[in-house]
Parts: sequence; structure tokens; C-alpha cells
Amino acid sequence: MATFEEARDLILRSAAPLGVEVVELADSLGRVLATDQISVWDLPMWDNSAMDGYAVRAQDCPVGSVLQVRGFLPAGRAAELSLVAGSAAKILTGAPIPSGADCVVPFESIEVHGDSVRLLVQPVTGAHIRKQGSDLRAGDCILNAGTLVGPTEIAFLASSARSSVPVIRRPRVAILSTGDELLMPGEQLAPGRIFDSNGPALAAAVREAGAIPITLPIARDDPAALRQQLQQGLRADALVTSAGVSTGDRDLVREVLRDLGAREVFWKVDIQPGRPMAFAVTDECCVFSLPGNPVAALLTFEMLVRPALRRMGGHLRPTQATRRVTLGEPVQPRPDRMTLRRVRLEQIDDQTVAMSSGRQATGFVRTLACADGIALIPSGTETLPAGTVVDVHSLRQRGDFGGGAQ
Ligand code: AMP
Ligand code: MG
Repeated sequence: MATFEEARDLILRSAAPLGVEVVELADSLGRVLATDQISVWDLPMWDNSAMDGYAVRAQDCPVGSVLQVRGFLPAGRAAELSLVAGSAAKILTGAPIPSGADCVVPFESIEVHGDSVRLLVQPVTGAHIRKQGSDLRAGDCILNAGTLVGPTEIAFLASSARSSVPVIRRPRVAILSTGDELLMPGEQLAPGRIFDSNGPALAAAVREAGAIPITLPIARDDPAALRQQLQQGLRADALVTSAGVSTGDRDLVREVLRDLGAREVFWKVDIQPGRPMAFAVTDECCVFSLPGNPVAALLTFEMLVRPALRRMGGHLRPTQATRRVTLGEPVQPRPDRMTLRRVRLEQIDDQTVAMSSGRQATGFVRTLACADGIALIPSGTETLPAGTVVDVHSLRQRGDFGGGAQ
């Protein structure tokens, strides 16, 4: 049996970033850059006006000067005029500064009299001019390999004329629900049967982790059927199965995986819920065999599979930092394992406190649905009084952009 930390380390060591693919810039949101991105030119590319106003020569026009307006410079055109002493040029934001000018006086600091202007302020050399290269120099690294692409990164790339960008490939993740009792959506309910909820839930979780789910047909608890489906799943970058991984008569997943040549790295993790999880590898595929119980399946996915998929997708920090939160009520954990406790986070005065989100037995999905986070209570812990500070893994506002949903 592995501790939680051992299990996560073993998994992350096996999950290497995948290869590179080139995508359109518009499709790069949420992807991870595969290479450093170098600026091909200075940004701004030329000195330009930061305001709507008049371009002037600061040194020869004290406050009160009256200047002849010679020319109009909107954005989007080269500055074809050259400013001579005693003159000004009307200029709009973003327009190149004409030669001879060294300052922009905004409209609000100017009085217009026909085709001349009077300065109400003393112009200052360099004022309201965005200097060439002041943001980026040609040859500067704009964004490092490993950067997650968001709107700001897309702005940088677009302004450097990139229309496509190399990113790490999204992991393709096969999902296999196993069990004789499972029905597919739309099938007729029958005594003893239940609808497969792990399949759709894990497919959504895969997508949320930035990967591409491939849902396989449900496999029955029968070695031949399992073998065929697992074999197909092993062709993906990762295979996530649920159920059939404990010690029951029908728990065949590990055995069939072994027959197919998968090398088991660990079986059982010292956590509650989620203990029977197994992890195996082939040369091409990471295989996560999750417990069947829906709460255990989703929690083991969140804590142990998601980081692996993020690493495969190129994220430099695949695990999520926990935050320290005060318990708002006493907790009686299982002393023999690390407890993953479903909690709501409540604001009481100026403090965030963690309260149980409801009954903690593994069978209760509702208490996972209304949880804001998972309190990680270390193994060997006796009763914790209210006021104890614990680590909480947030289930909200992850800051990702989802995966295949785009
Ligand atoms: P097992 O790991 O096969 O012993 O399953 C543990 C529990 O999870 C049993 O109550 C199963 O019926 C339930 N279960 C297994 N697979 C699924 C699934 N895909 N969707 C919903 N419940 C499941
Ligand atoms: Mg079963």
C-alpha cells in the first residue's frame, strides 16, 4: 500500500509531457506552449502617441506659445511630415511621432484658434510618447515554454504576428466503466441495475483537466470482455477504469491488465475514500484503475489522475496548492488512513472556516456535490477540535480553461 504522497510521486514520475502539435492561435487558449516564443521586432515598433493631442518640439515652445498646425496624423499611417520650429501636428493615439517632434500635448492642455493652437502647459520632452521597444525588444523571449496560454498570452502572440503556435498535445484518455450492474443512459431500468455515472463524470473531469476523453462501451465483469476493452483503452495516452479493482470475486481489472502486459506500480493507497485504486504503466499508456464507488472514483481522479493529465499536457505545476483553513467544528477522522473530508467553506466574520458538507460515508454523492473543497487530514490523527488549521484542496475556481469543450 502506498501513502498518498508516494502514490502521487510515483504517478507524476510516470507521466511525461506528450509531444508537440501546432494549433491556430485562436485555438491555443488553455494549451501549454511547447517552445519559448521570441519577439521578432520591437514593441512598440516605432515611437507613437499615447494620447490624442498635438505633437510639438518641447524645447522651442514655452507655456503660452502659439503654434501653427501643420498636418494631421491619425493612427495607421506613416508620419510623412517633419515638424519645424513654431509648428505643431494634430496626432491621434497610436500614430507614429513625426520627426522633429519630441512630445505630445493632449487636447485638454491646448486652446485651438483656427489653424493655430496655444499651449496651456509647459511641454515636457518625451511626455505622452510610447517609445519604440519600451515594452519588448526584438529577440526578447516573450513567453517561456511551459506557459499556459490565456487571453494575455494570445495578445502577445498576436502582436508579434503569430497566427499559429506550437503547444503540447492534449492527452487522449480512454474511460472504461466496468460492472455487470451498469446501464447506459436511455436503457430500461431493471431490478439490481444502476446507471453508469462514473463514465460521464470521469469524461467531464478529463475534459476539465484539459484532456480529450474517449469513452469506451461499458465492460462486463467477464475476463474476455474486459480484455478486449482494456486492450483498446491501452492505445490511448492514459486509461481510466472504474470499479472491479477491490478483492471481490468479480474484481478482475488488475488481473486482466497484468495479462495484457501492464506493469503494476502500486495497488491501494492509504486514503479514505479511495483505497483500492491501482496504477500501472505500459510503454505508451498510464493506467489508473479507480474504485467503483462514485465518490471514491471522483476523489481519486481529482487528487491523483488530474495532476498526471496536467503533467502530460505540459503544465509545469501539475498539482494544485492547498490552502490552510480553520476547522469550524470538531472532526473525528479515521486514524489509520489519510482522510479526504468533503467540506464547505464558510465565511464567519473575517475568517474562512471549513464545515462538513454532510455525511461522509463513501456512498453519499450529494455531499461531494455541495463541497467546496477536500480537507486532507493526515493518517494517525486523533479527534481534531474546532479551530485546528488543516490543508484544504479547493474544488472551485481552478483557473483552467477546460479541455475538449472548446
Ligand atoms: P466495485 O468497485 O465494483 O465493488 O463497485 C463499488 C460500488 O460502486 C458498487 O456499489 C457499484 O455498483 C458502484 N459502481 C461501480 N461502477 C459504477 C459506475 N460506473 N457508476 C456508478 N456506480 C458504480
Ligand atoms: Mg463491481
